[in-house]
Amino acid sequence: MRHFGQVGRVPGDPILGLLDAYRADPNPAKLDLGVGVYKDAEGITPIPQAVKLAEQRLIATELTKSYIGGHGDPLFGEQLLRLVLGEHSPALSEGRAGCTQTPGGTGALRLAGDFIARCLPGRSLWLSDPTWPIHETLFAAARLPVRHYPYVGADNRLDVAGLLATLVEIPPGDVVLLHACCHNPTGFDLSHDDWRQVLEVVRARELLPLFDFAYQGFGDGLEEDAWAVRLFVEALPEVLITSSCSKNFGLYRERTGALIAITADASSLQDVRSQLAALARNLWSTPPSHGAAVVATILADEQLRQLWQQEVAAKRQRIAGLRNGLLEALQPYGLAERFAHIGAQRGMFSYTGLTAAQVRRLRSEDAVYLVESGRANVAGLDAERLDDLARAIARVVS
Ligand code: PLP
Repeated sequence: MRHFGQVGRVPGDPILGLLDAYRADPNPAKLDLGVGVYKDAEGITPIPQAVKLAEQRLIATELTKSYIGGHGDPLFGEQLLRLVLGEHSPALSEGRAGCTQTPGGTGALRLAGDFIARCLPGRSLWLSDPTWPIHETLFAAARLPVRHYPYVGADNRLDVAGLLATLVEIPPGDVVLLHACCHNPTGFDLSHDDWRQVLEVVRARELLPLFDFAYQGFGDGLEEDAWAVRLFVEALPEVLITSSCSKNFGLYRERTGALIAITADASSLQDVRSQLAALARNLWSTPPSHGAAVVATILADEQLRQLWQQEVAAKRQRIAGLRNGLLEALQPYGLAERFAHIGAQRGMFSYTGLTAAQVRRLRSEDAVYLVESGRANVAGLDAERLDDLARAIARVVS
């Protein structure tokens, strides 16, 4: 008997397929705006200097490779809570905030999904339309019913009215996933005023907010990007937050992240944490250690922390410079206004507004690779060749 004869084949990740096509393209002027990793001016995803220094320290001082506990490295948890919630968060001083270390932000999302499915049965999870495609598959794998709220309309603009109109209809108790900053895939973020309105509906409808915080530091700053998370944590008794150290610490392959739970009181926190540890035991047993040890070493050391903050700021400024540079390059073609949203968006991604047909032309005629939704990874732009790209865009949109 052939056991695997009946196993069908599923399509691969379309973004990774795009990367394969890019790699196979012999055109020396090719440009990869597809894959969602930060790149520097040389097109490299660098290891931050602060990470290198912390790793040297760890190699010299690490004593054991024995398992770390189910919630991970306590120093990492303590430091990450302060980074996300702020040094003076009342939830911290009241003992209502707990951190469970996970394999990346993806692990945190999966743990959150399993927690909701097991401990809050019957609740649906609401995702923005559009959202990071893995949200859809990951929560389906956790057997959560997934629904959607509008976020960006067909006119490629933020649809705050549509978002609020849907939120007020959501049944009490349901869970709403919110991108804390640097919305993936669109780059459109809510204003402070929009966030306050969302908070009021979430509070009035008794919804549970689940923040996906994967790009802290890539929008307006490490503190600034935490604004919405902190607003909700101060206003509501219960909040879930997934945090990823992949982008801001450049630790992608070290799988470093956390699920943060804010509960109504310290006793409830212990109940929730007992469930999270039990669920994690079935997923990955205990989390990987190295990345979290690096993060803890950096955040607990004043010098390393400052160096890291400077490195995050440099990445953020490079992305902002590329956004503005592309707009300037589009100016001579009379397109700066049409693409003004690229300057207003935040983080690595931009919903450019280019159609699938235009994206295909850019790829076949100019070897510029972006996702068919029109999402571009702004960090993949080449500052020296923005004029070439603007000329190509002008051609495909005319
Ligand atoms: N959430 C969003 C919106 C993301 O874009 C990503 C990574 O691309 C993640 C979560 C998870 O990242 P990781 O699992 O690599 O930490």
